Amino acid sequence: MNGRIKNIVTAVILSLILAFFSVKAMSKSLEAMFIGNEAFWIKDGGYSLFTDFPYTSGVYNSMTYDFNFKAVTGKVLALVSHRHKDHFDPVLFVYQNWKIVGPREVTIQLPPDRVVKFGPEITFGPIRIIPRKSPHANTEHYSYLVEWAGRKLFFTGDTEDINTLKNLPKLDALFITPWFYRKAKMANALPTTRKVIIYHHMKGDIIPDCSGCIIPIQNQVIDIKASEVRKHGN
Ligand SMILES: [Zn+2]
Repeated sequence: MNGRIKNIVTAVILSLILAFFSVKAMSKSLEAMFIGNEAFWIKDGGYSLFTDFPYTSGVYNSMTYDFNFKAVTGKVLALVSHRHKDHFDPVLFVYQNWKIVGPREVTIQLPPDRVVKFGPEITFGPIRIIPRKSPHANTEHYSYLVEWAGRKLFFTGDTEDINTLKNLPKLDALFITPWFYRKAKMANALPTTRKVIIYHHMKGDIIPDCSGCIIPIQNQVIDIKASEVRKHGN
């Protein structure tokens, strides 16, 4: 083979390999189980991501839960928005062998080897996290964009700041509190998303103007499918 043909063949083979792996990444399943408050257990079969978990069950009159921690295997990351006890309990966390991404206010008290270095872009295995600093009470608070298995997920946390929703990419799932949903909807500031998943609601909450929203009950599993467009390599 002369050099030019060799280059073309190599390029074709490389792009086939790339296409194969990207299709594989997209077709991976991603399931989110609602635990309570803003806690979801999201897994791809190997890696697990917990949002605002473990929290103190039932604290401040929030949702109680009965979670089987022993059922969690593989590599695990807790992604925490802020320090309030209905979002994170450091004592419960240290008993697990999980890692954590969260505000310094939360992680400063934890063993350093359990803390993933915070930055504008954080990687944990196949999970890419882009934090957005957002206001909530007098805490250090972050909302998070998570890219995983070809999906884009956004977690508002407890913020009610409309600016937090600006310039987001097209989402596969938006996780948002009922009160922030209402506010953003009225301001016409909701990002484009395939799914709206309400969290931090009360049991049996009715959320106005939220038809098509998923209002999960505890232990409900939501299949977060890869979008059709991106499935075909876009
Ligand atoms: Zn809070």
